[in-house]
Amino acid sequence: MKYYSLNHNAPEVSFKEAVIQGLASDKGLYFPQTITPLNPAFFNVIENLSHNDIAFDVIQQFVGDEIPEENLREIIAETLSFDFPVVEVEKGIYSLELFHGPTMAFKDVGARFMSRCLAYFNKDKKDSKNTVLVATSGDTGGAVASGFLGVDGVDVVILYPSGKVSDIQEKQLTTLGQNIKALEVDGVFDDCQDMVKKAFLDETLAHKNLTSANSINIARWLPQMFYFFFAYKALKSQNKPLVFSCPSGNFGNICAGIMAKKLGLPIEHFVASTNVNDTVPRFLESGKYDPKPSKATISNAMDVGNPSNFIRIQELYNNDLKAFEKDFSSYSYTDEETLAALKQIYNTNGYIAEPHGAVGYLGLKKELQKHENAIGVFLETAHPIKFLDVVEPALGITLPIPEQIESVINEEKVSVKIKSYEELKTFLG
Ligand SMILES: *Cc1c(COP(=O)(O)O)cnc(C)c1O
Repeated sequence: MKYYSLNHNAPEVSFKEAVIQGLASDKGLYFPQTITPLNPAFFNVIENLSHNDIAFDVIQQFVGDEIPEENLREIIAETLSFDFPVVEVEKGIYSLELFHGPTMAFKDVGARFMSRCLAYFNKDKKDSKNTVLVATSGDTGGAVASGFLGVDGVDVVILYPSGKVSDIQEKQLTTLGQNIKALEVDGVFDDCQDMVKKAFLDETLAHKNLTSANSINIARWLPQMFYFFFAYKALKSQNKPLVFSCPSGNFGNICAGIMAKKLGLPIEHFVASTNVNDTVPRFLESGKYDPKPSKATISNAMDVGNPSNFIRIQELYNNDLKAFEKDFSSYSYTDEETLAALKQIYNTNGYIAEPHGAVGYLGLKKELQKHENAIGVFLETAHPIKFLDVVEPALGITLPIPEQIESVINEEKVSVKIKSYEELKTFLG
């Protein structure tokens, strides 16, 4: 499969090159040249297929012949080695729980898939390595660290703002060892992000083969299609139209959902639910795309002012706003509304959500008023323990510590403190 840059000023590349480069040379996001719907027979038998077989059929065309079937099946099996339960929260409303992976964040799937693709492409290159460089405000870093741990031919360097991530998040970044290095930056998230961007443009670091591991990378973005197929498999027997609500930040997850629909998955409607970082809801109101600097909220993994994947969504609809609005709505919620929803979900249904899922729930409830016969799914993108500072006081409960978290919480933190870009360069060598 070939990929082109959405800035249309860079050569087309293969899947492999797109994964290794991350971003095209003209700074555009890569996009697949063709999207071929799956055979209708696939949907007729989907309930009899395993998650691994579904994932293979979904992603195969995007990889093409660049990873042999046997290896791709192995990568998928390693990526999906945990559950994706669909839990009924109230009548007609389901939570698709994407937090049962090793770091209890939905980004585990993308990070694991990407790391194993890179490892496959590096397998014969004994003397050259890739360095994955990421800045994190919390959740991404842990998933990337865990996803790449022990993967041959790849070093991972994670920059995080000192004192600005939660204790659990910091442990997930700093205790793994092996090929994972954590740099503790004296500054805020934007300082980390600026250093990473500078490094990607720095020709004196070309020998490090730097690559990114956010949803800009096709190997992190595309596997998110799987979730929507898994939910459909679980709910197909109800024979009702399906509405999905994704708590959205960079819009990678929801964009993968729209790809799933392009492949023929019968999804009636999408809702991108956001916190007060409402660039896309405002766009749908006014027709003007007017990004603003991000504001801090309790659903902080969605504190994004200029969602990087929105351009992919526009491409999927050929910039046809009418067609887009038919399939897609977007609503924004304040922290107060989010907290009220957390409490309501718990008090009425006994279900413990976390702030991102609660935003998704709110958007879903609103949209379902327009779809009488439909059932709805909101994506629960993190385990409540990862946002315990919000969830515990709001619900007046103490959450038990899951095994995945227990195993890092008592490990010793290892990080290198840096203050400047020069120190990052020296570290990279
Ligand atoms: C990253 C993240 C999101 C947002 O996902 P996007 O694909 O960037 O829209 C939502 N919730 C949690 C917990 C996340 O970590």
